Amino acid sequence: MDRDRPSFPPPLDQASLYQADHWQQPPGPNTDLARRGSQYLGVLRDLAVQPSWISLAHIADPPGETVTWIGQHIHQVNQRLQAILTDGLDCFEVAERPRVQILAAPIAPQAGVDGFCNDGFWPGPDLCTVPMTLMVDPGRIVPADWPGVVAHELAHGVARSTGHGVEFRRAIAHLCLAQDLPLPPPHLDAEALSYWPPCRHSPKPEAFWLGQLPPLTWS
Ligand SMILES: [Zn+2]
Repeated sequence: MDRDRPSFPPPLDQASLYQADHWQQPPGPNTDLARRGSQYLGVLRDLAVQPSWISLAHIADPPGETVTWIGQHIHQVNQRLQAILTDGLDCFEVAERPRVQILAAPIAPQAGVDGFCNDGFWPGPDLCTVPMTLMVDPGRIVPADWPGVVAHELAHGVARSTGHGVEFRRAIAHLCLAQDLPLPPPHLDAEALSYWPPCRHSPKPEAFWLGQLPPLTWS
């Protein structure tokens, strides 16, 4: 277990784990945007599989303007991701829907992923009180393919597994069919499934976090 992560059973501070609603709200008129951006990055580090996976070092050094952009705009990004997630959850019966939240995150290249599903706070199948956290890096994937990367991470949430085995295959196939995404061929192995559905990578991943993509192209 990650040394930065509390081990179970802790006195769960559930309020601190539910963050998505808050970060879908716009900042107030007197908000210190740089401070808000820093707070958001702190929340991401707390909820990430590993805190070091959240980084702006590859985007801007120093990161000041990017942090301010996050403070000003992250709610719009999260609203868009939430809408995609809600569409995905609607493809499942209520009883099958995992309790999940989604947050946009600048993910360090060393993590080697475009997104992840952190179920590290999930105490077990009987205690459905704590959300899993999906994080995706919208800078790494072209906006038209955000539904694909969200579907991939949601499929982990539905399968309640970080692997790409039978349960994951069932979940991603269901999502792809329901959302008109490319269906995984029946004999695709787990390694290939770990990249399904195919998503186009942005030629300039840092442009998104530098605020160089007009919101109209993605919101
Ligand atoms: Zn995966």
